[in-house]
Amino acid sequence: MNILNQFTLPKGNVQISLSGGRTSGLMLHKILEANGDLPDRVKVAFANTGREMPETLNFVQEIASRWSVKITWVEDAERGGKVLFDVVSHNSASRNGEPFKRLIQRKKACPDQSKRFCTEHLKILPARRYLIDLGWKQWTNAIGIRADESHRVKPSPDKRVDRWFPLNDAGITKNDVLDFWKKQPFDLIVPAGLGNCDGCFLKSEATLSALARDYPDRHNWWVEIETLATRLTKSPNGARFRSQYTRKELGDFVEKQGDWIFDDQEYLCQKDGGECT
Ligand code: SF4
Repeated sequence: MNILNQFTLPKGNVQISLSGGRTSGLMLHKILEANGDLPDRVKVAFANTGREMPETLNFVQEIASRWSVKITWVEDAERGGKVLFDVVSHNSASRNGEPFKRLIQRKKACPDQSKRFCTEHLKILPARRYLIDLGWKQWTNAIGIRADESHRVKPSPDKRVDRWFPLNDAGITKNDVLDFWKKQPFDLIVPAGLGNCDGCFLKSEATLSALARDYPDRHNWWVEIETLATRLTKSPNGARFRSQYTRKELGDFVEKQGDWIFDDQEYLCQKDGGECT
C-alpha cells in the first residue's frame, strides 16, 4: 500500500489535533500532502493552555502561514460561572497560564501523574466545545502518535469521536519525524524538554530542574500555583504537581546545589512520566 493512503482523509467531519510539537506537525503535513487543501469538514485545532513556550506558539503560527492551512486556536474559558471555550489567535492567546490557573481554581487541586485532568480540560474539551458549537455531532479525531509510542494508541472514551492515528498506522517513528524537520526551512526551536506546558509534571526531575535554573520566572509560576492550591485544596497531595517534592523545594534545591547536579547524569532523575496529547 502506498504510504500516502494512510493519510487519506476518512469520510465525514475530521478534527486534526495539533499539539504544537514536531510529531503532530508532520502528521498535518502528510495529511495536506495526501489530500491537498482541506475541505470545510476538516478542522485543525490547537488548544493553548497558556503555559506553552513562545517558540511553540510561533511554530504553530508558522505552520499555518507557510503551509497555508487554517489552524483554529482554542482555550478553556469561563464566564458567568459556565465553562466555555474561546477562539484566540497568536496575538490574543494566553501566555501566562491563565486557562491553567482557572482550571486549578475550579478543581481546587493541582493535577498530577495520577490525576491528569489538565489534558482533558485544557486540550480535549475546549476543542470539543468548539466543534459542537459548529454543529458537529460525530467526528474522527486525527492524533499524532507515532509507531514507536503505539502503547498510547487507545480508543476514544467519547461516543462522538473515533480516533485516527495515521502516523502509527504508517509506521512513522521518532527518527522519521526528526529527518522530516531537518529538511524543512523552519523548525520548532524550543529548548530541549520544553515542548507542551513548560513545567508539565510528566517531565523528568532533570527537565524541571533545568526550567528552574534557566527560566526562573517560568518556574515560579508553578511555585505560585502550588501556593494558591494550598488555600483551595482538601486533598493531601492537592497542592503539589509531584508527590515527591513541591516546585519551591525543587527550585531551592537547584539554587543551593548549583550546576554540578546537571553534570552528573545519575543525580537528577531523567525519567519522564509519559506525554501529553
Ligand atoms: S502538557 Fe502536562 S501539564 Fe500541560 S496539559 Fe498536558 S499533562 Fe497537563
